[in-house]
Amino acid sequence: MEGRIHSLESFGTVDGPGTRFVVFVQGCPMRCKYCHNPDTWAMTGGQMMTTDYILEQYHRNEPFYRNGGGLTVTGGEPLMQIDFLIELYGKCKEQGIHTCLDTSGIAFNPDNAPMMEKFDKLMPLVDLVMLDIKHIDPEHHKELCQQPNKNILKFCAYLNEKNVDMWIRHVIVPGITDDDKYLYDLGYFIGQFHNLKALDALPYHTMGETKYEKLGIEYPLKGVPAMDKTILLDKKEKILDGIRARRKEMSLGN
Ligand code: SF4
Repeated sequence: MEGRIHSLESFGTVDGPGTRFVVFVQGCPMRCKYCHNPDTWAMTGGQMMTTDYILEQYHRNEPFYRNGGGLTVTGGEPLMQIDFLIELYGKCKEQGIHTCLDTSGIAFNPDNAPMMEKFDKLMPLVDLVMLDIKHIDPEHHKELCQQPNKNILKFCAYLNEKNVDMWIRHVIVPGITDDDKYLYDLGYFIGQFHNLKALDALPYHTMGETKYEKLGIEYPLKGVPAMDKTILLDKKEKILDGIRARRKEMSLGN
């Protein structure tokens, strides 16, 4: 089976544990204002690659991934090509390769039975899901990404039920996703899930801006400064406060 691929990277260090072979898929239905990969949005273009070709590329540098690394699919939005993911991760599992899925969760839809069958097939093949929650508040999420967050939040519960390890990633953008109340609410929400293994609070940067210029798209966050890394730790602490509060409540309830 072929997937529509934007690019491959042999030595990824920020896309999951260890050193990783990273597959960037082409196509994403979200339009996050801070996206630094607008060149992956179009559902057309990219290059068609078979799962065997991708694994051949992986094996060319396989010794480098033995430090607890493996293969990550990111994007774009990988779940828009779920059949391709099932085949690719199925082969990874046969070959003992650690699999990571970096996703926005936007394709998850509990009301779509055929799609849920595919999710049920995929999940046993995924060792780790890195889930980007863009905003915990439904209205702000819509404003930021042009899509609702309802099913994304349900995806967390689903992963928890399926016992799939989950890392939550949250990009902190000055004036847009740095409100302490929402950061706490995010923590309070994810704190309920036992499969939560890590939290990445990522600083917004402006490096994507030039890609917008090249594509002739207006940059939606023009003038918004990069996130000050000295404030970032304090912001992450707000999310952790929410997690701790939820976990304390849950332990008192037991
Ligand atoms: S989900 Fe990712 S690739 Fe898609 S628009 Fe948002 S940041 Fe960009």
